[in-house]
Amino acid sequence: MRDCIFCKIVAGQIPCDRVAETDRVLAFRDINPAAPVHVLVIPKEHVADSAGDVAPEHGELLAEILAVAAGVAGSEGVDDGWRLVSNVGANAGQTVFHLHFHMMGGWAEPKTSL
Ligand code: AMP
Ligand code: ZN
Repeated sequence: MRDCIFCKIVAGQIPCDRVAETDRVLAFRDINPAAPVHVLVIPKEHVADSAGDVAPEHGELLAEILAVAAGVAGSEGVDDGWRLVSNVGANAGQTVFHLHFHMMGGWAEPKTSL
């Protein structure tokens, strides 16, 4: 897919620190972590540029993404509290335009709000 860095990671052209994988979903550590545990969960196929482009036909894939995120939270030992964030658009800080979710956790203190 064009010049998409996440498509290149899926294709093995760019290395990643993989933590989980299914046939359709890949989870790998964010290269610039914003939390003690920060894993990106992405569909292997470039089905949408962002969560703003998701369609009903992606329902099962989205459920699989959420299940992988929950599994990673468990395997990373943060299932007592984690966040799933998806930035939509440059104004929200999106820099990679391949649908992805940031799974973050591991903070020393409980979060009270966004
Ligand atoms: P966003 O800013 O929401 O589009 O998220 C993109 C994320 O991808 C950022 O948190 C980056 O740190 C991360 N990122 C960019 N390139 C890589 C890479 N090669 N391996 C792992 N994470 C990356
Ligand atoms: Zn892509």
